[in-house]
Amino acid sequence: MNKTVCEENGLKQRQQLLHYAQQLNSSGLSVGKSGNISLRCEQGLLITPSGVAYDELGAEDLVKIDYQGQPLGHSIYPPSSEWHFHAAIYQQRPEQNAVVHAHPSHCTALACTQRNIPAFHYMVAIAGGSEIPLVPYALFGSEQLAQHIIESMQHYRACLLANHGMIACGEDLPSAFGLAIEVEALAQQYVLALSIGDVHYLSEQQINEAIEQFKHYGKRE
Ligand code: 13P
Ligand code: ZN
Repeated sequence: MNKTVCEENGLKQRQQLLHYAQQLNSSGLSVGKSGNISLRCEQGLLITPSGVAYDELGAEDLVKIDYQGQPLGHSIYPPSSEWHFHAAIYQQRPEQNAVVHAHPSHCTALACTQRNIPAFHYMVAIAGGSEIPLVPYALFGSEQLAQHIIESMQHYRACLLANHGMIACGEDLPSAFGLAIEVEALAQQYVLALSIGDVHYLSEQQINEAIEQFKHYGKRE
C-alpha cells in the first residue's frame, strides 16, 4: 500500500472511532468518561485516550499503539488504561477487529452481583454461545484483568466484568457497538425477569438450536 492510501485509511479509522466514541454517552452505554473503544490497525490498535470526556475528543486525540502499549506516532494523551485487554483480544482473536468496553447500568448491576447472563432468552446466542460469561474481578487497567478476560471469553464475543462493566467485540466497529447495545438490552430484560422471579431458563438443547439457527440468520441460503 502506498503512503497516501495508508494515510487515507488511517484518517477513516480515526473518524469512525471518534463517531462511535461520541455515541458511548448518548447511547446510554457509558456515563461520563467511563468505557473505551478501539479498532485494530496496521501494527497495533487505535484506542480512545485515558480520562478524556468523549464530547471533547477530536480525531487527532485517538492514540495509536502497538500490542505492548508503545506509541506508534505522536499523541498528546496516554492510551486508555485498559489497553492491555484490548491488545490481548486482538492478539488472541484474529477474527475480531473492534472492541467496545462500557459500564451500562444493567450489565453492571448483574456484574456487581457476580452474575453472568445465562440462557434465559434465546438471544444470548448472539454473543456466540449459551451464555454471556462473567469474567472474575481484577483491578481496572491491570494485566491480570486482561488475563482473566482472555481465559473467560474464549470463543464468546461479549462478556460481563465482575464489579465493573462489559465488553463486546466484532469484526468491525458497527458490529461490536451493535452487540454492546444488544447485550445491555438483554441485561435489562434479565434484571426485570429476576425481579419478577421464577425465571424459566432454556434447556441446553434449546439454546444449542438457537446457536445453530443464528449461523444462518439473515443470510440467503
Ligand atoms: P480510560 O479512561 O483509561 O479508558 O478508563 C475508563 C474505564 O472504563 C476503565 O475501566
Ligand atoms: Zn471500565
